[in-house]
Amino acid sequence: MRPQILNPIFADVTALAGVGPKVATLLQRIAGPRVVDLLFTPPTGLIDRSFRPTIAAAPDNQRATILVTVDKHEPAPRGRRAPYKVLCSDETGFLTLVFFHARADYLQKVLPVGENRIVSGKVEDFGGARQMAHPEHIADPTIPNAMPLHEPVYPLTAGLAGGVMRRSVSEALKRAPVLPEWQDPSFIVANKWTAWEEALRGMHTPEGVADLTPASPERSRLAYDELLANQLALILVRRARARDRGRPINGDGKLRALVSSALPFSLTDAQQAALKDILADKDKPERMARLVQGDVGSGKTVVALLSMLNAVETGAQAVLMAPTEILARQHLDGLRELARPANIDIEILTGRDTGLARKEKLDRIRSGRSSIVIGTHALFQTEVEFADLAFVVIDEQHRFGVRQRVSLMSKGARPDLLVLTATPIPRTLALTAYGDMELSQIREKPPGRKPISTRTVSMDRLDEVAEGVKRAVESGDQVYWVCPMVEDSEEIDLTSAQFRHEAMAAQLGERVGLVHGRMTGGEKDAVMERFYSGELRVLIATTVIEVGVDAPDATIMIIEHAERFGLAQLHQLRGRVGRGDKRSSCVLLYKAPLSETAAARLKILRDTEDGFLIAEEDLRLRGAGDLLGAAQSGAPQFRIADLSQHQDLLAAAHDDAKLIVQRDPELNSVRGRALRVLLYLFSRDEVVGLLRAG
Ligand code: ADP
Ligand code: MG
Repeated sequence: MRPQILNPIFADVTALAGVGPKVATLLQRIAGPRVVDLLFTPPTGLIDRSFRPTIAAAPDNQRATILVTVDKHEPAPRGRRAPYKVLCSDETGFLTLVFFHARADYLQKVLPVGENRIVSGKVEDFGGARQMAHPEHIADPTIPNAMPLHEPVYPLTAGLAGGVMRRSVSEALKRAPVLPEWQDPSFIVANKWTAWEEALRGMHTPEGVADLTPASPERSRLAYDELLANQLALILVRRARARDRGRPINGDGKLRALVSSALPFSLTDAQQAALKDILADKDKPERMARLVQGDVGSGKTVVALLSMLNAVETGAQAVLMAPTEILARQHLDGLRELARPANIDIEILTGRDTGLARKEKLDRIRSGRSSIVIGTHALFQTEVEFADLAFVVIDEQHRFGVRQRVSLMSKGARPDLLVLTATPIPRTLALTAYGDMELSQIREKPPGRKPISTRTVSMDRLDEVAEGVKRAVESGDQVYWVCPMVEDSEEIDLTSAQFRHEAMAAQLGERVGLVHGRMTGGEKDAVMERFYSGELRVLIATTVIEVGVDAPDATIMIIEHAERFGLAQLHQLRGRVGRGDKRSSCVLLYKAPLSETAAARLKILRDTEDGFLIAEEDLRLRGAGDLLGAAQSGAPQFRIADLSQHQDLLAAAHDDAKLIVQRDPELNSVRGRALRVLLYLFSRDEVVGLLRAG
């Protein structure tokens, strides 16, 4: 149960004065549905109203705050679309306030003739006269502090006015309770930080740009809270898993020997090391949880297969979960091929299996006849029962976060867990996303891979690129062409992809296919199949092809508007080519002019194919949120912490969390109780459930 003290800020935003359902929808888009979401939305800028010139001294096109006398109202003439004007002056000159669609009674009330008012807004020169259209603020100088000197600026969305957002946050702040201190008091003192509630207020009332930076004391404190909640949650998950005994799984090696000796290659040192880590985990009585990170093409699948066979040798079952249907099918083909010498039953189960066929599959899984089951998320949502599930492998960890790991853990079967990811997360991020898991990295590629030559080309030269594609297709190559991603909008993605498809089909006809996220699974698969079979030579796609699908004959990857993609994502897309033994290339089309950062980012991609290096650089240049892509990965989206700036804080939070759990494992001390509040505050509710009630 959430501590009562948090109720006021876990209320819906509609509980705030002035927030109705309409505004709530907009606030939800920016922050979230609850009051606390507003509190954790830091301002991104500030308006300074301390610049107080006379009318004559106010520069054109700049914000100024001016003390004026109201001289005269000039209402808009009836039936004309002219504005309502209020003429004002000071001893240096005249200023006309201009209002379109104004309500006269309101203006007469706030701007009474003959009185002084402070007005703040942009001053413009209009045919030699000075004017200010729609002042942002009008205040009575006799009322103290009626005009704030500094105002925070928040991220906005269409339809949400800055003032509405600001007022909502300030209403939210009124509800912020004084909470028990969960941080070590000496740590707070040493850093010259303030209490939580004070820090929160401070963050929302910046008085200079320094207050907006991650290094400000207020943001540092709040970021540390967030990171501590994250690290504490992961350590609690890890500890709960270790406490929850599994069983050692240690097969006789027969199946592995059969499969290994038939492999057309020998494992790389990195693959062997990862396999050794996994088998050592499985040999222990604690339940295993390990993440294997390895670049696209580094050969994670065979490592997964051999570790699954270890479980199968003991008579148990293993599951391989893939993020998409296509990928599940590709795994099925690949694993059946590799595992042929072992002569075991490998099954696939997805949302698309229905009726009798599905029932038969379920029977085979329940009876234990199927040794390895491949599938999508549906595997865990349906009535699938296993005879003896001992091992779960999750490939490409997208959307498989801590919450899902905890929920998998609380399922009846308590299998070992192996997560494979091609997202080369830097160590820092790995700590926040997978601090509850052991980590193995495969940083070496199988020998003989040809480097992918990567070029950046301006969109101005699109015709040349299209010409090049045509030549490549004539000489037998296959080409991927990925169309831009625009701000979450699949709609716009689609238009540009369709447009590109038409343009290319005009040149190459039937050999050009189109695949996008609006298609059903079956439609997508059908197009992809035609590409893999070689019937299609060019595949125009939105980012749906991102994850590990394999087309060995594809040698050219073209990415339109590459500057809009995350580096990690570009790297993943590029990894779609260069899988066979032909020379491959990648063309990053960008729209000129590129910003300095964008140019630097694309250069990294040109310079290296090391995904880990790319990820580190991307983190440095952009910050963590962008790096992973919204909601794409299992990694947490931090509200206040900025991992490109707060790495030291993260390291401290990691140590702090370890110490806390050592000393007070069930969080029952006074500080422990306060830490439970912290976990709820950052919505780590699921881990509080792992604590013994106290
Ligand atoms: P990923 O890590 O992206 O999942 P895969 O497991 O799909 O990579 O492997 C990519 C390709 O490399 C596959 O065709 C696989 O058979 C091959 N492969 C894997 N390991 C080796 C190796 N040690 N030597 C040569 N080829 C390998
Ligand atoms: Mg893979």
